[in-house]
Amino acid sequence: MNIILLAPPAAGKGTQAELLKDKYNLNHISTGELFRNIVNSDSDLGKQIKDIMESGYLVSDDIVIEVVKNYLDTSDNKNYLLDGFPRNTYQAEKLDEILNIDYVILFNIDKSILADRISGRRLCKSCGAIYNVNIDPLKPKNDSICDKCGSELYQRKDDIDSFENRYNVYLEETKPIIEYYKNKNILYEINADRSVEEIFTSIEDILGR
Ligand code: AMP
Repeated sequence: MNIILLAPPAAGKGTQAELLKDKYNLNHISTGELFRNIVNSDSDLGKQIKDIMESGYLVSDDIVIEVVKNYLDTSDNKNYLLDGFPRNTYQAEKLDEILNIDYVILFNIDKSILADRISGRRLCKSCGAIYNVNIDPLKPKNDSICDKCGSELYQRKDDIDSFENRYNVYLEETKPIIEYYKNKNILYEINADRSVEEIFTSIEDILGR
């Protein structure tokens, strides 16, 4: 079973991905997280993509597709949960050449709610766990420390500086793939302006329990 989570920035797909991968034993691939790790590794590729990521533009398709292909080729669990990929129609077409997609889950949510959520988002520097200091059930016990591994929490630079741009990139580049998957009859829409549990239940209803 291969699933795509499709959503504007900070709609909660990372949080749902964590729950889904455990329940359905899926291989969670977040291209954003892969790229953040590449940037942190200080490699040439990392230096090349750092500024693009921080400003909220898309990394070039060639780089994205190579990183994704490499991940798919080298991982054992072949049931994928794709989070942050594809981000445009070209990537969607390329993905069709390498993987059969069963479900595309679209998170519907208003921009004003996203702006509020993004200001509270915190990530763990070492394990990547996601928290939100503005949302009670997603609050860490201490605002700057990860509950899971005790490492420091941080705010993504692109969350602080680039929300507007990322949202516009979503509208212009990513939204068109909704039609692409609608035409294939594999698009499922959920209301993402609800609690983590309610959203998860809706996704379980789509996937079957
Ligand atoms: P995310 O963690 O999904 O919000 O991604 C963070 C950033 O990584 C994005 O703003 C892009 O710069 C880059 N990125 C992640 N996935 C992709 C993709 N599929 N195509 C191009 N750029 C991407």
